Amino acid sequence: MNILIINTGSSSLKYQLFDMEAATVITGGVVERIGESEGILTHKTFDSGDVQKNIITRPIPDHQAAMHLVADQITQGIDAVGHRVVQGGESFKAATLITPEVKKAIEANNPLAPLHNPPNLIGIRVAEELFPGKPQVAVFDTNFHQTIPEKAYLYALPYSYYTDHRIRKYGFHGTSHKYVARETARLMGKRPEEVNLITLHLGNGCSISAVKGGECRDTSMGMTPLAGVMMGTRCGDLDPAIFGYLMDNTGLTQSELDEVLNKQSGLKGICGKNDLRDIHDQAAKGDKNAALAVDMFAYQIKKYIGAYAAVLGRVDALVFTAGVGENDEIVRAKALDGLDFLGIDIDEAVNNVRNPEAHTIHTADSRVQVWVVPTDEERQIAIETQAVLDKS
Ligand code: AMP
Repeated sequence: MNILIINTGSSSLKYQLFDMEAATVITGGVVERIGESEGILTHKTFDSGDVQKNIITRPIPDHQAAMHLVADQITQGIDAVGHRVVQGGESFKAATLITPEVKKAIEANNPLAPLHNPPNLIGIRVAEELFPGKPQVAVFDTNFHQTIPEKAYLYALPYSYYTDHRIRKYGFHGTSHKYVARETARLMGKRPEEVNLITLHLGNGCSISAVKGGECRDTSMGMTPLAGVMMGTRCGDLDPAIFGYLMDNTGLTQSELDEVLNKQSGLKGICGKNDLRDIHDQAAKGDKNAALAVDMFAYQIKKYIGAYAAVLGRVDALVFTAGVGENDEIVRAKALDGLDFLGIDIDEAVNNVRNPEAHTIHTADSRVQVWVVPTDEERQIAIETQAVLDKS
């Protein structure tokens, strides 16, 4: 069965075509700068180790045009389409076959994810036109976090804000947390139900989850992806009174402040850069704020590890994933420094060696295993799409 995975962002569209029997990616790519004067499609075809790349630049006015351009590149048959949808709210506990009712429910969640759900829905509608009669499945970023208990997902606000306005923690990056949790259990030779994990998705966006016996029990992002540890450009957890204080004292409007918290804060806010490769270079040249940004980031990660160790009671493994988690040995070492009292001990020499494959970096004496596992959200969406089709 060939499953096409579609992941539409606000100005981009990523796609991959999986051959599920062979467990391989046949073709895939990304459309960027949708809606700008010049759009760009990068299309790759994988053929037994060889990669053929085709780049097309032309104006791509909207997601509909982007989807048509993608469909023109794919010469292989498509049996089903799996869509990444960011916000499933409480309506969706698991991946689901898309029906008219499901589309309405996704639309009802638009206010909770105004930048993400609308393009996700466009992707679904255009895919239905392009591949008529082929089953379409929605896999939500929030699915994996729906097992978080009420005491952990509620904010201590008037309860009616939850019932009337749906204010609660939803969590994000769920597909990535689920993928690496399953994969790590498999690599440990265990079933997901047998292990307690802290999964650390550290990329430009960052989230950390406590996963007990295969189920998510808490996660650092909140009602929106702004909460939790500081990120490339996002502030993470703040004293909520700061927002009103800044509105009163800076003259910035709500939307301008929103922009500051989302795009001008985090690592970038502290040292002017958001890519850790640049930040480490700057720090090595003596830039104090660059070193401070790394220290703050590692400290916040460490605090979440401590908190989630308490939530889980027993931790079998930590799992680092995404751009920073997979590649940045400095952040990993700093975040784990001094955690030997929790039974976490990494081998610095192994940690310092780049390895694109899933691998461990703990010492032989470490009670807790420490894994670096490349994430693969598209593959997880394909796996879940197939599972929905197998059941239907
Ligand atoms: P992601 O959002 O998962 O694509 O991660 C993007 C981020 O990963 C970048 O902004 C970098 O900060 C970080 N990153 C990627 N590659 C490396 C690397 N080789 N060393 C350190 N950080 C990296």
